[in-house]
Amino acid sequence: MRKFPEPISNLVAAFSRLPGVGPKTALRYVFYLLKQPKADLQIFSQALLNLGERINVCPSCFTYTEGQLCDICQSSKREQNILCVVEEPRDISTIETTESYNGLYHVLGGILNPIEGMTPDALRVRELKERLERCPEIAEVILALPPTIHGETTIMFLQKELAFFNRVISRLARGLPVGATLEFADEISLGDALKGRKKL
Ligand SMILES: [Zn+2]
Repeated sequence: MRKFPEPISNLVAAFSRLPGVGPKTALRYVFYLLKQPKADLQIFSQALLNLGERINVCPSCFTYTEGQLCDICQSSKREQNILCVVEEPRDISTIETTESYNGLYHVLGGILNPIEGMTPDALRVRELKERLERCPEIAEVILALPPTIHGETTIMFLQKELAFFNRVISRLARGLPVGATLEFADEISLGDALKGRKKL
């Protein structure tokens, strides 16, 4: 790529690190931003700063939150005896839109995929076990992981890891688009898959 002034090449490098963005797209973004009023750039950069400064990880379920415990972990209206294990924080908002679930969550932080470095140690399995130890009131753990090869492998792995705790372990009913992450499931199918969950 030809040499640009440093502020341009720095931002191109920053955008290039985003998933699915190559250097050409990154350069297009930067040139687009250069055409915007300076005040808009201020708003954009402030939004980025706020992300870094104000967003924390909930120490109980590991979703993103402003403040300490997230709204769901804090709420007394949520059922305390059921825990839904999801891959990423985005899956919580997907499940919440179905309005079919009113329990608690645990964000695993990924699913098993050794080639991409997602080994059991990279997932929050220890934290999940600690939570089950700490919370005997949790009677059921739903493994709401995607219907992909890696999702299936993770379900089998967790089923074994959690067997010791003697809780009901369930998984989503079939019927979701195979091979896709939960965010691509429509609300009705996902709601049905939650309600029709199968005990393992
Ligand atoms: Zn939380």
